[in-house]
Amino acid sequence: MSFKILVPVKRVIDYAAKIRVRPDKLGVETNNVKMSINPFDEIAVEEAVRLKENTIADSVVAVSIGPKESLETIRGSLAMGADAGIHVSASADMQPLGIAKILKKLVEQEKPKLVILGKQAIDDDSNQTAQMLAGLLNWPQATFASKVVVDKASDKVTVTREIDGGLETLEMKLPAIISCDLRLNEPRYAKLQNIMKAKKIVVPTKTPEELGVDVSSKLKIVSVEEPAKRVGGSKVQSVDEVVANLKKHAII
Ligand code: AMP
Repeated sequence: MSFKILVPVKRVIDYAAKIRVRPDKLGVETNNVKMSINPFDEIAVEEAVRLKENTIADSVVAVSIGPKESLETIRGSLAMGADAGIHVSASADMQPLGIAKILKKLVEQEKPKLVILGKQAIDDDSNQTAQMLAGLLNWPQATFASKVVVDKASDKVTVTREIDGGLETLEMKLPAIISCDLRLNEPRYAKLQNIMKAKKIVVPTKTPEELGVDVSSKLKIVSVEEPAKRVGGSKVQSVDEVVANLKKHAII
């Protein structure tokens, strides 16, 4: 059986862009804002491509769910070395449960041995999709991976995870779900030649209806607010003054 890896990649506001709350306070402004692949998903693509280059995996399929511009995110993944892409057309504000249900259907169709996701999308910071997908499929999962070692002979994967107390190492039977942390690898820059090649690959678009998935929202956004502005600090002359200030503001 061929060893396929599915990598879900999300198009998000670029990490360096200035975030502005929409006037209706129901989301953030995305018009005329630079969009990029979610940084953790770039790490996921890199890991999958390395597994292919090391002859562990046979193919890598990048999936993006969102408006038609998500095709750019897929093309970026193809330029990094993914072999094929699937686009599922949906609104940009779909919630993790809907995304996980769509991914479950695609897993049933594509039959990958591994799904490698980002640990979280930096727009909503949900950190839910990998866990929900593992739950829906009843597959083992290792989140926050900082090292992935696949043993094809035993059909197992060993994952080192970054947890509060340090590192935890888990062994899972394949097929399995992995979500990537920042230190897993350093993604490559796509070569111009590969960017050009990626433009020629035909990427099919599916709809949630075709996949038979109900993506109606279970959550209602009540209000999106900017974080409180930071108040400026002040310089003090002595330790006594620091202590007096801390007491004054009831910190000690
Ligand atoms: P989240 O649970 O929203 O923080 O997202 C975790 C991971 O799920 C992301 O890093 C992606 O790998 C995947 N994911 C979330 N939303 C999408 C989407 N619309 N299209 C493709 N992959 C997604």
